Amino acid sequence: MAWMNSCHFAIRIEEPDGEKLPSHLNLLARGLKLNDIRCLLCSYRVESLNHTLFSCEIALEIWSMVRIWVDIPIPFFENWLEWLSWHQGWTGSSRQKMRLYAIVATLSWILWRYRNAFLFDPGKMKKQELYDLIRLYSYNWCKDRGKDCISWTDWLIKPL
Ligand SMILES: [Zn+2]
Repeated sequence: MAWMNSCHFAIRIEEPDGEKLPSHLNLLARGLKLNDIRCLLCSYRVESLNHTLFSCEIALEIWSMVRIWVDIPIPFFENWLEWLSWHQGWTGSSRQKMRLYAIVATLSWILWRYRNAFLFDPGKMKKQELYDLIRLYSYNWCKDRGKDCISWTDWLIKPL
């Protein structure tokens, strides 16, 4: 199930030694010779996991759609730990917290998948699909893992 992949992705990027995924910055740090370490998606900044998930223009676009959808004032984050720390301090109910965590973990996983598709299988994922995939997979996460009984229609209208 797709939501399990986003769950595993979140667990992986939460590990204390952090960014192990093969971003350009990491590959460079591991000694690989790369001709170009710029972000694949924007060609503007050095590609790191944090850039891909939080500050790339595509990430900013997706985050802003999600902010509007969840309808709470979520600040901008530079990395996963900043997001986690904000999430822990956020005063939502435990159900709202679970839902928001599922949404952000899914958003992150989808952005990373999109980056990989861009690299290995261009055209496989379309930018216009990302927001819908996030809403669908995070919904499945909440239904299957969180035993949440919110309806699909309610989820689309008011997920938190
Ligand atoms: Zn970028």
